[in-house]
Amino acid sequence: MNRFDGADAPYWTALAEGRLVLPRCEGCDRWMWPAGHRCGHCGSTAVRWLEREARATVFSWTRTWHRFVLTEALDLPFTTVLAEIHDCGVRLLGRLDDPDRINPVIGEALSGRFATTVVGDDSIPTIIWSRP
Ligand SMILES: [Zn+2]
Repeated sequence: MNRFDGADAPYWTALAEGRLVLPRCEGCDRWMWPAGHRCGHCGSTAVRWLEREARATVFSWTRTWHRFVLTEALDLPFTTVLAEIHDCGVRLLGRLDDPDRINPVIGEALSGRFATTVVGDDSIPTIIWSRP
């Protein structure tokens, strides 16, 4: 049984397999993110899930210095980026591999690797971003 449900289940299932897939509306050919059961632009329910490379640029970022709930497994500080996928404009949150704490630059290129991260008592698939 698939542990993921909801409109974004294909995203999580693929991520657990080491692939990035994103939804695209067949009605108006726009990317649909966050995923939904119906396109917010044209109302179509026809969705294709297309594989993309884990390449992106920094759209925004923040560094977390203080512990908050469900982050107990992460070393502090950690850096979170809003990564804009290179050829579709979809933006995904993810952690930056940032051991030297070098501040990211908006527009800086990123490449992603597929991994898992611990959130509370659960382990979930994720993309860890790094500078290529
Ligand atoms: Zn549409």
